[in-house]
Amino acid sequence: MSSTRKKLKARVVILSGPSGAGKTTLHDRLLSSPRWKGRVVRSVSATTRKPRGKERHGREYLFLSPRMFAYKARTGQFLEWARVFDHCYGTPMKAVRENLRQGRSVLLCIDVQGARAVRRRIPKALSIFVQTPTMKELERRLKGRGTDPAEAIRLRLKTAAKEMKEAPRYDQVIVNDDLDRAFRDLETVLERELL
Ligand code: 5GP
Repeated sequence: MSSTRKKLKARVVILSGPSGAGKTTLHDRLLSSPRWKGRVVRSVSATTRKPRGKERHGREYLFLSPRMFAYKARTGQFLEWARVFDHCYGTPMKAVRENLRQGRSVLLCIDVQGARAVRRRIPKALSIFVQTPTMKELERRLKGRGTDPAEAIRLRLKTAAKEMKEAPRYDQVIVNDDLDRAFRDLETVLERELL
């Protein structure tokens, strides 16, 4: 089957936007779709936060000590890194390079600061901003997740209000009011930009 598939361009694809807008759900859905398998791959970020639930080292994240993270940052091993809320997150450079070299696009699901840094370093990266239709809806989703205390939600909303101002700097904006529609929009963008 793979021999009949069209060859795609290998690009860095940034999926970013405020926390709670749904970028991780879209990211996971894309990576589990047979249609994109082997053509678009995940970038496993490093983080100093502790694993949550069933998260495993090397699958969702590389869970590093603050000391190891700082060493990697200092020695230039990250394409970008940022402090997001209470922890550090970074995109390991080597895996991105290796995948691009082998003709696969790499999907980075990262915060707005990281996206800004990648756009600067790789102007040809395709950047996609995922947002909710309104701030009220974002608040409803953050509360619905039930993972954050009220103070953390307030901070996320304040940060989101600033982050939303960055949307016009992205190549594409996807408004996630309906997950199926947002996913179709994402696939349409990728078909157009990677074919
Ligand atoms: P969480 O801890 O909920 O998995 O992620 C918190 C935030 O960090 C999310 O907005 C996520 O997209 C962002 N993030 C995850 N990995 C990276 C990364 O490698 N770099 C940057 N800048 N942000 C990241």
